[in-house]
Amino acid sequence: MMRGLHLLSLLLCIWVSLATGRRLATGPEAPLPPAERREVYADGRLFDITHRVTKDTPTWDSKVGLGQFLSPLASIKNGSVVNAAEVKMSVHTATHVDSPAHVFDKYADAGYDVDSLDLELLNGPALLVDVPRDKNITADVMMSLNISKGVRRVLFRTSNTDRQLMFKKEFDSSYTGFMKDGAKWLVENTDIKLVGLDYLSVAAYAEALDTHLEFLASRETILVEGLKLDNILPGLYTLHCLPVRLVGADGSPTRCILLK
Ligand SMILES: [Zn+2]
Repeated sequence: MMRGLHLLSLLLCIWVSLATGRRLATGPEAPLPPAERREVYADGRLFDITHRVTKDTPTWDSKVGLGQFLSPLASIKNGSVVNAAEVKMSVHTATHVDSPAHVFDKYADAGYDVDSLDLELLNGPALLVDVPRDKNITADVMMSLNISKGVRRVLFRTSNTDRQLMFKKEFDSSYTGFMKDGAKWLVENTDIKLVGLDYLSVAAYAEALDTHLEFLASRETILVEGLKLDNILPGLYTLHCLPVRLVGADGSPTRCILLK
């Protein structure tokens, strides 16, 4: 009987030391390395041109930025078995696309929402160009850029990138964008059907609505706004933009990447 007890306590000791050893090796107390966040992948061939959504993301006409956009529906700290968050923000937050429904109510009624946008147009060869730094994008500027016929997707990098405007939470109406005549010239004289720009609107503040109307009237042009174009050389890339299929929404957050 005594021998049996000794054997039992010996086995218990071995089990405890094994269990403790295992916990020390991989246990919950071991500090985790910080999560990696990157802008460039695949040895410099893949660029993430999407802005992060944070509480300091600038939003249209606001001094205070996005603020609290995530709230918990369920939380492990409060006894749930999972964490699950809910999102509340404008569909025009950070890097996003505009559909024809954004500025035409007849298109909204007819279902020309973000889910109706042409996925082929959102994915394919794209030109990244630098525009003159001292003015908005007018018809004259468009002419001076000499973009070849056949180019269907262009990302316009402006002083907005130099000024890091998308990283400042206070909205800045002095950003660079298209003037109405620049948009009209593009629509009438080029094959460009995807227009990307590096602030919250492709259109300059003073003519924001008229410029959107010009771009979106034909329902053939997709606008990608709030792009992150820092530290990428001008030139030809493959663009991939994949907006969320929010049925009925006039815009949608999108992930966009460039492949060299
Ligand atoms: Zn928008």
